[in-house]
This record gives sequence, structure tokens and C-alpha cells, in this order.
Amino acid sequence: MIYLNGKFMSIEEACIPVLDRGFIFGDGVYEVIPAYSRRPFRLTEHLSRLQHSLDGIRLKNPFSNEEWKNLLEQVIAKNDPEDQYLYLHITRGVAKRDHAFPINVPPTVFIMSNSLLPPPGELLSSGASAVTALDNRWIRCDVKAISLLPNVLLRQLAVDGHALETILLRDGFLTEGAASNIFIVKNQVLLAPPKSHLMLPGITYDVVLELAAANQISLEIREISEREVRTADEILLTSSTKEVMPITLLDDKPVGTGKPGDMFFQLHALYQQYKTTHMRGLPADNVKT
Ligand code: PMP
Repeated sequence: MIYLNGKFMSIEEACIPVLDRGFIFGDGVYEVIPAYSRRPFRLTEHLSRLQHSLDGIRLKNPFSNEEWKNLLEQVIAKNDPEDQYLYLHITRGVAKRDHAFPINVPPTVFIMSNSLLPPPGELLSSGASAVTALDNRWIRCDVKAISLLPNVLLRQLAVDGHALETILLRDGFLTEGAASNIFIVKNQVLLAPPKSHLMLPGITYDVVLELAAANQISLEIREISEREVRTADEILLTSSTKEVMPITLLDDKPVGTGKPGDMFFQLHALYQQYKTTHMRGLPADNVKT
């Protein structure tokens, strides 16, 4: 069951007019929120990122956080899986084709749910491969915009190279993955690129930084050069659906030993523990610093 503009229906029944500005211009934003044991994960953080994206495209938030929570809970309840990921999508509505914003047009609001499966065990035990590419996206990558053509083309490079992800480099520095954030490890120090308009502020990225800080893991948040990426001991990928994953092959060359490293195993275990705390509805006091 999905939600579209005030109604719940099956995905087959859901239709939008061809003049929807999401369809015509990619004029909208989205969020992806995991729900474990039917509890939305880091909901406040996801909703504040949604607000940031809406502000970035000057679109009024159609709902309060309480209303979003309510709607998302209804979508979760109407779908079978215990673990789901919710996809929510807001466009600037339906109007005669004209680049300028339409006046007094209600936004289109769409929410769907899919089952959320943990990443396959073999990817965690042997690691995944990635390719690199020039980050040729726009310079508001902090906005989770539905116009994802560059990300689609960049991710396809990974598929073409039988890899899981494309790691993006802009002006000689690491930004993120085509649909993930990227960390590296050098000499037991976890390195993360600083948040900026050139990357999406990942919710999983924040969880990993909090876990590292709360568990005395050496951490540096700073620009990471292409050379540092290519000579890293470990590369880690994070996203809401992939959680924490090791990248062990980069452009067909082994990363470090070519096997998932200690930092991956430690952060992966901490992340699973954090998820369990969340699923039981307990405060994550052991994590927040
Ligand atoms: N960067 C990009 C470009 C993404 O599409 C995603 C996935 N939504 C991420 C980073 C990871 O963000 P999150 O941890 O919130 O899923």
C-alpha cells in the first residue's frame, strides 16, 4: 500500500498527471527512511534533512513533523514486512509547463514502502568492489533532489564495471558515492570528508561518526585527497539501505590487504548493536556523546 495525495491505495492504482513538475522537470525532493521492527530509524534526523532539502528548492513543507510521523506509521502498518524502507517524494505539483514556480499549486506527496533486507553476508565477509569517477553533479548535492540523472549515469559506471558503487572525486578530493557516503581508514584513523554542499549529509554517516566518537576510535573529519583514497588501508561505504560495508577492490586494485579490515568489523558490530537498541525502543545513551 502506498500513500498519494491524501489517499492510501495499491501501487498499481496510483497515477499522477503527466504535467506533474516531478515528471517534467525533476522538480522535487525525496527521503529514504528505514524502519526496523516497524519503528522508523532516526526519524527526527530524516525529517530535518527533508526540511533542508525543501528549503533548498524553496518548497513549503506540506506537513508538520507530527503529521509526517503519523502518515509514515500508517504506511508501515499497511505493509507486511517488519523491516521496511520508506521512500517519500514531494514535487512542486501539477501545472502548465513553465520553468517558473506555479502559484497556489498543491505539491504532490507520495510515500511507498519496500521490504528492507540486510546486505548479503558474502559482501560483508569478502567486501565489495567500487570504481571511481569524476563527480560531475551540480553543486547542491546536500539537497536530496529527485533529479538524479547524474547519479544514475555514475551508478551505471559501477554496474558496467561489475562493481557495487561509484566513488566520486571532485577537484582531486573525495566527495561521496553515487548513492552512499564514503570513509577511508589510514593507520587506524577513520577519515571522513566534511559535510558541505558537495555531498549529501548521510544519516548513516552521522551514526558512524557518533559511534566512532563514543567508542574512542581515532577520527579526523577533513578533505581526503584522491591519493589518500587510492592508498587507504580500508574504504567503508555507508547508506541507510547498505548500512556499513567494506570496499575491498577499487578500480580493480585491492584496498589495503584486499579483505575487510578491523575498522569495518568494529563499526559494523557497533552499528548492529545501535540498530538493536533502536528496535527495542531504548534510548541510545551508549552511543550519543
Ligand atoms: N549520498 C548519496 C548521494 C545518497 O544517495 C545516499 C543514500 N540516500 C547517501 C549519501 C547516504 O545517505 P543515508 O545514510 O542517509 O542513506
